[in-house]
Amino acid sequence: CGSKEDSEKETLVMATNAEFPPYEYYEGDEVVGIDAEIAAAIAEELGMELKIEDMAFDSIIPAITSGKADMGAAGMTVTPDREENVNFTDTYAHATQVIIVKEDSTIAGPDDLVGKTVGVQLGTTGDIYADDIEDATVERYNKGFEAVQALTQDKIDAVVIDGEPAKEFVKDAEGLKILDEAFTEEDYAIAVAKDNTELLDKINDALASLKESGKLDEIVAKYISA
Ligand code: GLN
Repeated sequence: CGSKEDSEKETLVMATNAEFPPYEYYEGDEVVGIDAEIAAAIAEELGMELKIEDMAFDSIIPAITSGKADMGAAGMTVTPDREENVNFTDTYAHATQVIIVKEDSTIAGPDDLVGKTVGVQLGTTGDIYADDIEDATVERYNKGFEAVQALTQDKIDAVVIDGEPAKEFVKDAEGLKILDEAFTEEDYAIAVAKDNTELLDKINDALASLKESGKLDEIVAKYISA
């Protein structure tokens, strides 16, 4: 139980999927990572108490629209479809979707994915884009890491996933590589309920001051080496 002051603070509930290093992942039983730290810094700016709720990636937007969570911070890409259900803050990171293959694969770029079996994380932009690959079979996994595991076991030909987690997963596996040519470019932002424009404005103000003070860059640099 916290001090009286703490308990009077309003809670800021963040929905995330803590399977996405270096943005959110577990260290012991604590969720750490870029999003966790940005959210903590935002909560501090707002004088609120951050509470992180870990869930499946495709449960995050429903949690926000139903009011179970105040915001979603999950390396979430801004897409027109999602914008129909939630508002996005200003973006705080640029990202790419990359292709992971076995080191000896003949797949050298996006065009070579035609007709192949491609693994993705369910409900992510990788899933959406892979769906457009001609004649490809898309295998959907709950966790990005499971898709990478399937690739090492030769169950699939490639994985389409966000660039930064890709680096982490490839580092921990053997015999895999990330293709140089990125599949798509995208931007991450925090999602907030459509009717909560007050919180949206507050988060944008907090993000602006974190960008200005250099705190945002500092958090990113802690997790991603240039
Ligand atoms: N950036 C991807 C998306 O928004 C993946 C995010 C994630 O898996 N946490 O769909």
